Amino acid sequence: MSIHENYHHIKSQLPSHVELVAVSKTHPVSAIQEVYELGQRVFGENKVQELTEKQALLPKNIQWHLIGHLQTNKVKYIAAFIDTIQSVDSEKLLSEINKEAQKHSRKIKVLLQVKIAEEDSKFGLRADEAKALFLKYTSDEFPNIEITGLMGMATFTDDKSQVRREFLVLKNLFDDLNTIRKLTTLSMGMSDDFPVAIECGANSVRVGSAIFGHRDYSKIP
Ligand SMILES: *Cc1c(COP(=O)(O)O)cnc(C)c1O
Repeated sequence: MSIHENYHHIKSQLPSHVELVAVSKTHPVSAIQEVYELGQRVFGENKVQELTEKQALLPKNIQWHLIGHLQTNKVKYIAAFIDTIQSVDSEKLLSEINKEAQKHSRKIKVLLQVKIAEEDSKFGLRADEAKALFLKYTSDEFPNIEITGLMGMATFTDDKSQVRREFLVLKNLFDDLNTIRKLTTLSMGMSDDFPVAIECGANSVRVGSAIFGHRDYSKIP
């Protein structure tokens, strides 16, 4: 299927309350432009350099989300334009984003990335760490940041019951934190598991290959 058909096929499966983040990593600017012209405005990238190169070439009303691990020394390259950083996994990073956002007199939206997969993943906060950081944030130490929700990735497995279990852990944490201060975004679900994620309460999904096709890493310099 073409990108056009893929896009409409994915959109047709999303209830109206679910936001689509089109994950364009490794795909060329021309493919992003094509999806933009179909009406898509929210795109996700996982590497700072690739993101800044594409951002410079594409329409300025795209809302860019960073979904990959972010080193504190790279925040400055995206602070002027990034809409949401979905992958915040430390207080140090949160402080740095706040500082850089301040320099640009803007507020940057942030999701706390929580480790929910049973498989070993390097990045993400434990649930208790995410709660502690959120409590710190609610005491207003980060005026140029708005934590709008949580992001998580389930284990890469065909076992749907395991995937569901992991998503529900994040949904429970979301509901818990939401009683402390209102959150808007629960980002979970990718090409292979977004329907399960939505059943478990996701209202934002990050879909890449099901729109753009498979990523060919051999083409990346
Ligand atoms: C690449 C990526 C996605 C999209 O993955 P697909 O399987 O291509 O849909 C979603 N979230 C994160 C964090 C990613 O790195």
